[in-house]
Amino acid sequence: MAFEGLTERLQNAIAGLRRKGKVTDADLRETMREIRLALLEADVNFDVVKTFIKTVRERATGAKVLEGLNPAQQIVKIVDEELTKMMGEEATPLNKSAKIPTVIMMSGLQGAGKTTTVGKLALKLKNEENARPLLIAADIYRPAAIDQLEKLGDDMKIPVFSLGTDVNPREIVKQGLALAHEQHNDYVFIDTAGRLQIDQDLMNELADIKDIAQPDEILLVIDAMTGQNAVQTAEGFDERLNVTGVVLTKLDGDTRGGAALSIRAVTGKPIKFVGQGEKMNDLDVFYPDRMSSRILGMGDMLTLIEKAQKDFDEKQAEEQIKKMRENTFDFNDFLEQLQQVQNMGPIEDMLKMIPGMANNPALKNINVNPKDMEHIKAIVYSMTPAERQNPDLLNPSRRRRLASGAGRPIVEVNRMIKQFNEMKKMMNGLMNGKVSPQMQGMMD
Ligand code: GDP
Repeated sequence: MAFEGLTERLQNAIAGLRRKGKVTDADLRETMREIRLALLEADVNFDVVKTFIKTVRERATGAKVLEGLNPAQQIVKIVDEELTKMMGEEATPLNKSAKIPTVIMMSGLQGAGKTTTVGKLALKLKNEENARPLLIAADIYRPAAIDQLEKLGDDMKIPVFSLGTDVNPREIVKQGLALAHEQHNDYVFIDTAGRLQIDQDLMNELADIKDIAQPDEILLVIDAMTGQNAVQTAEGFDERLNVTGVVLTKLDGDTRGGAALSIRAVTGKPIKFVGQGEKMNDLDVFYPDRMSSRILGMGDMLTLIEKAQKDFDEKQAEEQIKKMRENTFDFNDFLEQLQQVQNMGPIEDMLKMIPGMANNPALKNINVNPKDMEHIKAIVYSMTPAERQNPDLLNPSRRRRLASGAGRPIVEVNRMIKQFNEMKKMMNGLMNGKVSPQMQGMMD
């Protein structure tokens, strides 16, 4: 998970102040020194760190008498506000054209995640706005890029325009745009080529494509794992193309976070989206304030709630609650629930969004193995429809059949069925207002 080291160091830096009623200049200096080191260690740009520390120090010195907050809370508040500012303050929406199509051109080094991001963003627009995008495959140098885009388009039922690898990308873009006008597509994405490093040929090609397409948005895709290099790359592309926004990918990896924290301040360009996984729905709008909360280990409840809302089908949930109440919740419902939870992403990541949990030592020991979920599913898949609907049918010989069908030991099958029955009993009790003394104790 991104920012782990930074969160820990920042929390440690501030923890020293928690014990103090009054903060001396020396205390403040020491805390600022540690925050500075934490940011540099996270690979944040040197000048950005310098300005940040200066501002926080000035504000902290002036704000010593703020009422209602203890010194540590005051510093956290100031650091939170300044981190948010450093990353751009507000979420910045996609530029849209007044008349269709809105043209979005991608740029970035090879492997940064351009093609993947085209897929993610097109799907997002399709789902959220019922949009009809056209994807133009203009990366002719990496043959797999065209196949990759065509496969994504196929899976998502979004059309892809390609002319193979023998036609000049400028011509591909011209013809693709003409087709989009003809078909009244509301968005056009141009997936361009990348190189391992910035080079003149590539930049000339991108500049020509920009002239031809007159894009409303030029998104620069940056791999967050590349740290300081990411910032240099951004400056290089921006100089020639004047990009309009940044997409930071691979924020699900264990990046130290420097790129996320520096890019806006160095280039002045807003981070518009962040990629947080390889799946097509792993793209989120970038909210500087939420990211700052996450970095400070204060959690990101808003994102968690939004994820829950997006991934949970309300009707399905109502149906399940009704079944729990009527005690008819069966293994089919159970499977649906498992799927919903899995769609939300790794459970450890979800837990970290809860305030105070990011650096909770207890979390370090939680390791929810996705395989366990798969094993449970395999057992349920081995059941006949009648067994799924009526778990009481599962006598010992049927259980043995499930074990061999799913390739799991019989004890695991027994444990899973026992847990299912207990859960069902507990949920039924809850739904009907019958609360056990233990549960009552937990809620008090
Ligand atoms: P391109 O050369 O810029 O078009 O890069 P690709 O779209 O082919 O992406 C390169 C690799 O990065 C692929 O394996 C992607 O699955 C992966 N990738 C892209 N975005 C993300 C992300 O947000 N998180 C993770 N973990 N992987 C990503």
